Amino acid sequence: MTGERLQPQRLLHRRIVVKVGSNVLTGGEDGLHTPTIAAIATQVADLVRRGAQVALVTSGAVAAGRHRLREIEALRDDASKLAPRDVQSRQVAAAVGQARLMALWDALFAEAGVAVGQALLTRRDLADRLGYLNARNTLLAMLDLGVVPVINENDVVSVEELQDARIGDNDNLSAQVANLVDADLLLLLTDIAGLYSADPRRDPEARLIERVERIDDVVEAAAAGGAGTRGTGGMTTKVQAARIATGSGTHVVIADGRSRDIVLRTAAGEPVGTHFLPAGDRIESRRRYLLSGLQARGRVIVDAGAAGALLRGGNSLLPAGVLRCEGTFQRGDVVQVVTAEGRHLASGTANYASDEVARIAGKQSGQIVDLLGYEFGEEVIHRNNLVLV
Ligand code: GLU
Repeated sequence: MTGERLQPQRLLHRRIVVKVGSNVLTGGEDGLHTPTIAAIATQVADLVRRGAQVALVTSGAVAAGRHRLREIEALRDDASKLAPRDVQSRQVAAAVGQARLMALWDALFAEAGVAVGQALLTRRDLADRLGYLNARNTLLAMLDLGVVPVINENDVVSVEELQDARIGDNDNLSAQVANLVDADLLLLLTDIAGLYSADPRRDPEARLIERVERIDDVVEAAAAGGAGTRGTGGMTTKVQAARIATGSGTHVVIADGRSRDIVLRTAAGEPVGTHFLPAGDRIESRRRYLLSGLQARGRVIVDAGAAGALLRGGNSLLPAGVLRCEGTFQRGDVVQVVTAEGRHLASGTANYASDEVARIAGKQSGQIVDLLGYEFGEEVIHRNNLVLV
């Protein structure tokens, strides 16, 4: 349906988060609309085969669950039991629907020879230092392997999403995921061509805003215009997501998920939908975060061999090169990496707490389990979580 016709274009964006909204997944109807979902899966698989790293944020669990529960209801007399629309019944629907949603994505990607992995996240998980680090490490490891993370909010535990669309919704979640994995592009697929100056369903003068250099009042007012019906997000949450993601240097595109080859065209840099330009440099914002002295909770002192390996770039810090550490820090805290002479070489997020680093310093990674009784990986700081000064 997609890849064959397109010339293998140069990919402008390599690490991409694609968020698919409920209205796209259901095709505006009741249950999941397989042809639309298949078209998206085929395009994402095509990108992965061409070397891109893609994470999907998928809504549709509640919609799929409601559909399934109605099917069952039709066979029973106690229909009223499944009908209420309170938060708990939405959570039940999400639990039922998530399984079906995931099974569908898995089957469609399997046809294209690509593996997927499910990640159910809550905002609380990501606000928590350890949750953030674990989610980041796992998602980056999946992307490295060419596995497509299929992400949704963990609706069974996150009541706030279902009660208050403005706080936790998949638009905002996708922006957090884009930050988490340092995405180049966040593509928000919806059932409208992009952000319009007014609601195009009501105002014939409404025009598509193709490019947003800066999110200002005008853009926000335009976003307040319209909202989808089946998911929780309208344009307001999409613009909120765009603000978060562009702020850390990610391109954001809002486009119609039903348009032909939309994922491939966007990844190739074709102008589609509404393009929000990054407000800052992506690497720079992570650098700033990691290097800011305020963040650092401690120091890890390394020997000359480790210093050389770090300075050559692309290397993780292993316990073998650690002489000792200073300060009290927890796993997930930012620490400075310094030489024995006190030269600040790099900063990064520690995989081990200071008391653990003290016990594994100078040892081979293979000994970590013996020394601690467990391990969080063979690195004291993984290269993905490390920046050179
Ligand atoms: N997590 C919800 C679901 O899977 C959707 C939330 C949203 O669309 O923003 O149904």
